[in-house]
Amino acid sequence: MVRRPDGRKEDELRSIRIEAGILNNADGSAYLEWGVDMYRVELPQEKAEKLKEEYPSVKVKSGGDVVDVDIPAPLKWYIEEEGLEVKGTYFKGNRVYAAVYGPREPIPRHEASPYRAIVRYRYSMAPFSVPERKSPKPSRRDVEISKISKEALQRVIFAEEYPMTFIDVFAEVVQADAGTRVAALTAASVALADAGIPMRDIPVALAVGRICIDGECGIVVDVNKEEEDAENAVDMPVAVLPRTGDILLLQMDGRVSKEELMQMFELALEKAKEISSIQREALKRKYMRVIE
Ligand code: ADP
Repeated sequence: MVRRPDGRKEDELRSIRIEAGILNNADGSAYLEWGVDMYRVELPQEKAEKLKEEYPSVKVKSGGDVVDVDIPAPLKWYIEEEGLEVKGTYFKGNRVYAAVYGPREPIPRHEASPYRAIVRYRYSMAPFSVPERKSPKPSRRDVEISKISKEALQRVIFAEEYPMTFIDVFAEVVQADAGTRVAALTAASVALADAGIPMRDIPVALAVGRICIDGECGIVVDVNKEEEDAENAVDMPVAVLPRTGDILLLQMDGRVSKEELMQMFELALEKAKEISSIQREALKRKYMRVIE
């Protein structure tokens, strides 16, 4: 078993919370958090450094003999084992808003199709979403992510039912912590369903990968920033239809064997079902609110 930097099991997702229909001015919307809760405790410096060496996602604040340490939720067992007092908690992870407009009047009209709705997708990262200010201008990366996400959604929307219209999807990353393209697509899918756009299924996007730590390699789900930055890491973002297992999007960097690739697929499909139920619960909660 490969020891993950934040203490997760190989097949353990970071926690995902979704709320549907939170923006009044869009036809459909969603807010998604995808990350880990961090617990602030105090530890003798030596112990803190040792823990960080084993689990690099642990954050050690500089200080004296006793230091503040932030421990990710999957390592809660350590807090219990040591009988530590939790001084505070905060959320570390991706935060994404998604909004959908449409099907609506196409402007400019010459970009519309008499055969189907045109899906447009804008992925963007807020200037304050990463540690260094990100330029608000769309980067090459933003343009690429927008293009592949649009193509993924076009494959699932019944676009031919709405000729001469646009369906506009916006995904705004306000906090980034690896896996933003899949977090954005997962949120956008909920926003599309919330807008009542007919789809073959509600897509789920997630990343699987292979990481090697201390000479031990393993296939893991939901690669985090420390894992992604490690040497020889393989990251494979995918978008799937959880009901049929159809693949809408697949990207990969790094090198894996055919067997590892199949293992990665299987893990992605299995975990997509978990995310799918979180999406559906979010939509149900929204409509329960409407009924009440
Ligand atoms: P994804 O977010 O889909 O995993 P990448 O692999 O390109 O996409 O990026 C990985 C992570 O690197 C992002 O989630 C974000 O935390 C960080 N990142 C991306 N772009 C920037 C940037 N311009 N400045 C700082 N960090 C960035």
